[in-house]
Parts: sequence; structure tokens; C-alpha cells
Amino acid sequence: MVEEVSKEKPLTIDYTPPLKSWMEPAVEFRKGTYGYPAAPKHEKYLDLPNPGVWQPTDKDWKLPENWKEIILRGMKDRLGRYRSFRLFLDICVRCGACADKCHFFIGSGDPKNMPVLRTELLRSIYRRYFTFSGKVFGKLAGARELTEDVLKEWFYYFFQCTECRRCSVFCPYGIDTCEMTMMARELLNLLGLNINWIVEPASNSYRTGNHLGIPPHAFKSTVDFAIDEIKEITGIQVEVPINRKGAEILFIAPSADYFASPHWYTFLGYLLLFHEIGLDYTWSTYASEGGNFGFFHSADLAKRLNAKIYSEAKRLGVKWILGGECGHMWRVIHQYMGTFNGPADFLEKPVSPITGTHFENANSTKMVHLCEFTADLIKNNKLKLDPSRNNKWKVTYHDSCNISRGVGLLEEPRYILRNVCNEFYEMPENTIRERTFCCGSGAGLGSDENMEMRLRGGFPRANAVKYVKEQYGVNLLTCICAIDRATLPPLLEYWVPGVEVAGVHELVGNALVLKGEKERTTNLRGEPLNSFISPSPPAGRGEGEGERQDHV
Ligand code: SF4
Ligand code: SF4
Repeated sequence: MVEEVSKEKPLTIDYTPPLKSWMEPAVEFRKGTYGYPAAPKHEKYLDLPNPGVWQPTDKDWKLPENWKEIILRGMKDRLGRYRSFRLFLDICVRCGACADKCHFFIGSGDPKNMPVLRTELLRSIYRRYFTFSGKVFGKLAGARELTEDVLKEWFYYFFQCTECRRCSVFCPYGIDTCEMTMMARELLNLLGLNINWIVEPASNSYRTGNHLGIPPHAFKSTVDFAIDEIKEITGIQVEVPINRKGAEILFIAPSADYFASPHWYTFLGYLLLFHEIGLDYTWSTYASEGGNFGFFHSADLAKRLNAKIYSEAKRLGVKWILGGECGHMWRVIHQYMGTFNGPADFLEKPVSPITGTHFENANSTKMVHLCEFTADLIKNNKLKLDPSRNNKWKVTYHDSCNISRGVGLLEEPRYILRNVCNEFYEMPENTIRERTFCCGSGAGLGSDENMEMRLRGGFPRANAVKYVKEQYGVNLLTCICAIDRATLPPLLEYWVPGVEVAGVHELVGNALVLKGEKERTTNLRGEPLNSFISPSPPAGRGEGEGERQDHV
């Protein structure tokens, strides 16, 4: 797939501003830079407006006759409903502090990928139809007429934003361009203009419970397969409860974890951990998906998908919910769940049954992140760990956007990693934690047909990985997001060959010394343990950016 892209002629990056005014809407839909439109059958399944067959390269997008009225009515409605929408449209001073912070601008050089200009595409319409100055002075006041070409430009650029929110960290006014993208996508949805990589997973989640469309019996088979694999590696027979009423905890993970690679090894890590601590928990086939692709579509769809998790928790009668290594599931839970469907007062405030720790931050959502849960187990000496089983890896950590900027979960994964492996190195300071660079494929942009834009958008992330590879020999990039585990491997294969990708709980599963296990000869990937090199820490390095992080 990546080879194919490299054979095609990619765009050249030219940061020289074009002579043409930004106000002229002109988009060239070039192969590799956009996602295919939503298939009508999935739009119909979700009861979405104006389902139809069209392509971005078509001249005629088969819009309803009154499309303009629909958009302006939709805009008016949202200006009244969402205070942040009007505020962010009004207060930008066009200082440019955000301009070079977007990975898509860095990787493409296209000025309309600067966050400030991306929003101007929408703001110019707001000015024209909803402000006095725009109505009177038109172009002079930065206003534009709403035309079909403007719509096409919206489709192109608002599906070239991964809603990562890096730009908002640098904006002195806190303007969140992600929210502008969310609004623009909502408006496009009113005309049935969305991409299939968003609408199909959302519709699959309704049909079968998860993005991939895996039916309950296939879920059960995959679990059985994992049980056999664990038995072979550890000699231990684990139990994996599914749809068990009365369990204490409902565990929710992204579906890719039990179906894709390298996610699968993280899935094995979950099962080993839960077995070892004797957790009273259950999986669900109805809520067999943590990810919420509805969030990349509209608030309404995000709300509907989020509700599934909570209605299942109620049906099964669990006390609280534990969530796995997912990205946007956590953003939705942390920032929107309270307004969408919460507070979940029918559940109990989460308390670890193993350590007694009360996770106060989850009092409202009743959902605890697995990294918080595992870090607490380690802190309370509840796990026996042998980090030398991960000696094959020199590890770095990618802060997934939704987890770092959206939730603020920064320390727990690092604490776990320092306990389960012997060599951990941070990437440069301006590329991690709140300032982390996006994988370039989030928010529904991770499709194969969009590969060139993904590789461009992921370039700054890959560049930081390249730095620690060259400095310290890093060969493993860990993360706690299923989209990252799917999209980082091709990105690294292209820009930094030789660095693999893993979830944090894969390394936990490797290091975990289980009661009664046989001598392990392989890691969870089936690679021989005795072929691992022993760590050779660079002398005299302490903790800090780009330095070896010792096991503690
Ligand atoms: S940093 Fe904020 S105020 Fe400045 S141009 Fe960007 S969005 Fe506007
Ligand atoms: S939210 Fe992320 S992708 Fe979107 S404009 Fe900001 S930095 Fe770029």
C-alpha cells in the first residue's frame, strides 16, 4: 500500500504563499488526498439525509435544490445552540500563532491547512450571512458568497483536519479549530456529504455492535482463539466472560483490539491482566466497541453511540465501567458524555476491587481508563513484573491526541512503561504530552484512498520518532489508541522503517509473571524470548527529554 503511494507522484511542498487570493474557492480532488463518499446503504441505515451516489471529482454533487437554504438554516440553528461556535467565529484576531502548528500544513504546505485559514473558509460565510459588516461590505469585511465551490472546498479541507486540537494549545484565545471542523462537518452532513470511513463504521456499530461489523458469534470465536493462544504461550487457561449479568465491571475496548494487528497483542495483554488479578468483569457483544465514529460525524450520532455503552451497563447490572486503550472513546466520555447522556447515576462510583482506590475523577462518568487502573495496581505492588521480557524493545511513547489533549492522561502510561520495560526514551519535548503531533489519520481519515494526505499529515510525528531512533536506537513506538495502532505502522514503514508499534498493555502482558505459568519462551507476538538482546543503557543519563527512563 505504502509502496504504491511512493510510486505515484506526490505533491511537492512549497511554503511560498500563492499569489491567488484565498477567497477564491478552488480545489483539485487528486487521488490520495481525499476519502471516498459515504455509501448510500450506510447513510440509509442511519437515517441520514440525502443518500446518493456521487464522487468528489464529479461536477454535479447531486445536491438538493434548496441546498443553500439548508446550510444557512443549519448554521443559524447551530449559532443559537453552541456558544463556542459563535464565539470562535467572532474572536479570532488572525494573529497566526496557530498557523504552523497543524501537521497537515507542515506536511502539505497548503495555506488552507493552516488552522486559521481552515476556519476562515467557514467564517467568511458566517460574515456574509450573519454579520452586519459582512452583509454591507462583503469581500472588504472578509465575507464570501456561499457557492457550490465553497461547499467543495469545505469538504476537502474539513476532511483534512483530524480534530486533534494541537492548534488550540497555541492559540492565545483558546480557539478550538477542531470544534469548527465539527460544525462544518455537521453542516455538510445536512446534504449527505460525508465520507464512508466515518459513516460505515458508525452504521456497523448499530448493526452488530462494533465498527468492523463483527457479529456476536464471531466475537466469541475470536475470544476462544485468544484463550488458546494464551494457553500456548503461558500454559494458563484464562476465562473470558461475555454478556455476564451481575459482573462488577463492564470492560469496553475498541473492536480493532480483538481483530486487527498489532492490536491483538494488546488484547492478549488485557486478558492476562484480568485473569491474574481475578477481576469480576464481563465483555459485551452489544457494546463491543469503545470507539465512537459518530463523533466524527455529528453530536447527535456521537450521543446515540455513547448511549449504547451505558444502556448495556444498566442491562448487565454492573457497578462501573473500565475502558481500554482507545482514543476518541475517551474524548467523548471525558468532554461530552456528561451533556450527552450523563451523569450515569444508576452506576456506582468506581472503586478498584483490588486496591480499594476510589477513582474520584470518574465519579460522574463511572468509567475508568485502564491505564489509571493498571498504574494503580503497580503502585500498590499488586503485580509481579519482569521487565526483562521486553528487552527486545527500546521504547518510546506517542501521546494520542484525544487522550493527552482531550483527557489529560499523561503520566499513567509512562509510569506503566517504566515498570514493564528496561529502556524508555522520550521524543523531543515539543512533540509530546499536550503538544503531541497527531498520527495524521484520526477523525475518520484513516482510509487507504487518503494515504498521501495521511503520510503528509503524519510526517511531524514520524520525524520525532526518527530522532529517537537515530539517537537511542528506539525500535518500538507505544500508544494507547486503536486508530494509532492501525495508522502508525504504515506511517513508520514509509518514514522510519524498522520501528514497530504496540499498545502499552501488550508490554504489560509480556512482563506480567502469572501465578502458575510455565516458563515463557516467547513474547505475546510469538517471538522467542531468548533471542532478545540485553539492554545496554547509555552511561550517565538520567530522566528527562530524550534520556533513558530507568525502570522504577
Ligand atoms: S492563534 Fe487563535 S486568534 Fe490567532 S489566528 Fe489562530 S485561531 Fe486566530
Ligand atoms: S485540530 Fe489538528 S488537524 Fe485540525 S486544524 Fe488544528 S492542528 Fe490541524
